[in-house]
Amino acid sequence: MDFTITEEQRLFVDSVEKFARKEIAPGAIEREEVGEFSWECWRKLAEFGLLGLSIPEKYGGAGADAMTTILALMAFNRAGRDGSQTGAWATHMLLAAMPIAELGTEEQKRKYLPAMAKGEKMGCLALTEPEAGTDATSLRTTARLDGDHYLLNGSKTFISNAPMADVFITFASVDLSKRAGGLTIFIVDRDCPGIATGPPLKKFGAHSWPTGEIFFEDCRVPAANRIGREGEGFNALLTSLGWERIAFAPFVGQMEADLADCVEYAKTRRQFGRPIGKFQLVQAMLAEMKMDVEASRLMTYHLAWKKDRGEFIGLDAAIAKTFITEAAQRCADRAIQVFGGYGCMRECPVGRTLWGAKMGTIGGGTSQIQRTIIGRMLTGL
Ligand SMILES: Cc1cc2nc3c(=O)[nH]c(=O)nc-3n(C[C@H](O)[C@H](O)[C@H](O)COP(=O)(O)OP(=O)(O)OC[C@H]3O[C@@H](n4cnc5c(N)ncnc54)[C@H](O)[C@@H]3O)c2cc1C
Repeated sequence: MDFTITEEQRLFVDSVEKFARKEIAPGAIEREEVGEFSWECWRKLAEFGLLGLSIPEKYGGAGADAMTTILALMAFNRAGRDGSQTGAWATHMLLAAMPIAELGTEEQKRKYLPAMAKGEKMGCLALTEPEAGTDATSLRTTARLDGDHYLLNGSKTFISNAPMADVFITFASVDLSKRAGGLTIFIVDRDCPGIATGPPLKKFGAHSWPTGEIFFEDCRVPAANRIGREGEGFNALLTSLGWERIAFAPFVGQMEADLADCVEYAKTRRQFGRPIGKFQLVQAMLAEMKMDVEASRLMTYHLAWKKDRGEFIGLDAAIAKTFITEAAQRCADRAIQVFGGYGCMRECPVGRTLWGAKMGTIGGGTSQIQRTIIGRMLTGL
């Protein structure tokens, strides 16, 4: 196992960090206060080439491997300190564009990927429904073939990017009685007749990263927009969507940034006539943060390394997703504690990450279901 970062990757990561520090970090706090997505930042990400980073070169992307992609996601969040913009990017590229790149037809790839790589079309992945969360196989959205179109009916909720997306990777059932066996994936365009989205839902954090509902009412989707065969959606979800499983890499960058801020603060903030970093209880908090950062970084490298070798990452992904999002929550909590009262102020950079980390333990499969998956894989029961 070799996680050596090549010279080319190091130079690229440096350039991503410089870009994020200069173009994304300024105004990140204000954008969260206003609670509006920044299209200006989005355009900058597109110009820098990040929106198509992992999309194959043939379709206008940079064709980066998983290792380069996670390094960029970490660096961008570490230096940009904007979890909302990072999340919108990761959702667009890893949850929407990469399923098309990996599972789509040649025609679908040509139609969607170049525009997505340029950021002209934004993507999202729509699985969760009001009555179907952890149990995705119980979803109620149906797809009925009608000539050369499918008619989609149903609704989705808590979908990242939905209020502003153009391309909706949508899970619907062609036969509800078959449960998992009926699940099918469709690419639905914003201008398909019969699709509507609701306003951004009000969350505790990540205010400038819209999350919302989608409604399908006799929504006419061309049959050519079906990804894979009917009933193949659940397997695709379990096995082929490996890119989605590295979408939590930005949490590592966030933890690294929080730790760096805490170390600096502990060296300069004085109480009882000495820097608070002299107190062993403060050092313990820093040490615990450092252990979480290092373990999380190694798990992310391991996952990317395995993905680049084409190995199955199901068990590793469940372990890493659970550990890293929970570590990010612990780190954010400790960071606030190190900063004391200032840590509770919205202008303080470290405190803002706590709610984002909490939501990370829910989106993409809760910590409970991930533990269940790990347990099932261990026991085979
Ligand atoms: C900020 C945010 C962004 C999101 N973005 C997206 C997105 O882009 N696309 C998308 O499709 N979805 C998205 N989601 C939805 C997310 O995937 C679901 O919220 C999640 O899968 C849980 O579903 P639920 O909310 O219905 O909770 P439920 O499934 O109702 O779970 C409630 C509680 O019961 C527990 N539970 C349920 N079943 C079991 C079980 N078998 N064993 C043990 N415990 C169990 C859960 O762990 C949880 O604690 C997002 C959610 C959030 C918060």
